[in-house]
Amino acid sequence: MTAFKLTRYAPTPSGFLHLGNIYSFILTYHLAKKHQARILLRIDDMDRERVKTKFIQDIFDNLDFMELPYDLGPKNAADFKANYSQTKRLDLYVNAMENLKKNKKLFACDCSRKKIEKMNPKGFYTGFCRNRNLPYDNKEVAWRYQADMHQDIRFKDLHEGHLIGKLPGILTDFIVRKKDGLPAYQLTSVVDDLHFGVDLIVRGKDLWGSTLAQVLLSDALEPNTFSQNTFYHHPLIQDPNRQKLSKSAGATSIQFLRKSGKKKEDVYSMIGEWLGIREKINSLDAFGKFV
Ligand SMILES: [Zn+2]
Repeated sequence: MTAFKLTRYAPTPSGFLHLGNIYSFILTYHLAKKHQARILLRIDDMDRERVKTKFIQDIFDNLDFMELPYDLGPKNAADFKANYSQTKRLDLYVNAMENLKKNKKLFACDCSRKKIEKMNPKGFYTGFCRNRNLPYDNKEVAWRYQADMHQDIRFKDLHEGHLIGKLPGILTDFIVRKKDGLPAYQLTSVVDDLHFGVDLIVRGKDLWGSTLAQVLLSDALEPNTFSQNTFYHHPLIQDPNRQKLSKSAGATSIQFLRKSGKKKEDVYSMIGEWLGIREKINSLDAFGKFV
């Protein structure tokens, strides 16, 4: 059995935690146990438009309610704000962006979302600004990573060994710095995982493209170990109507279930049922043999 040092729960506080998030944490918890890894709680709060304090509080309330343990990271919302907010690591992100710029991996882009949709019906970026040489310090420009869409990107999968993928169209020249001047998700995610020493990344299949973008990005930074990390992309939990869970799905949010009188055992049971596990499951530990 391969041992890992550190894995993570990485919820985004732009909505209330739902059954899908808890399912991801359950898997992370059991994989950590199996592989002797510690767990970090990493909360990404760089997206100033979507992140809300009530959603940060919701993460702590529900980890507590579900009795989901972790070893490293903020203990509560105040501790998060004071010591773990991504705004505290801005220097690291800026440093990474400067490196990418120096290595000629970035270009400035002033395209609006509307314009991009007009140029491509799927909303894929067409590379319009690649050779326009817009100054980086122009107002209202995003910085994009100049990606080779044909490049084979390799990474280690927990169960399947080495996998190879190509960047999906939607991530063509993905954004590294947004128009508001703040670093974007792909960059902060790589920098944070390196900073904390994460070597096992458990995430939903919907983030498959992000894994490819992040491995690609890490190869363009100063020498680092990111591309040696091991990844596991889990299936997304589906309700009996086979609808993918979204953040707007209020009725599956843990705070809704909690306020309507459900206990943690009930929530674990629901997840077990949705996974199609016949046996009655009503605790975190009971999931162990199904991971
Ligand atoms: Zn552009």
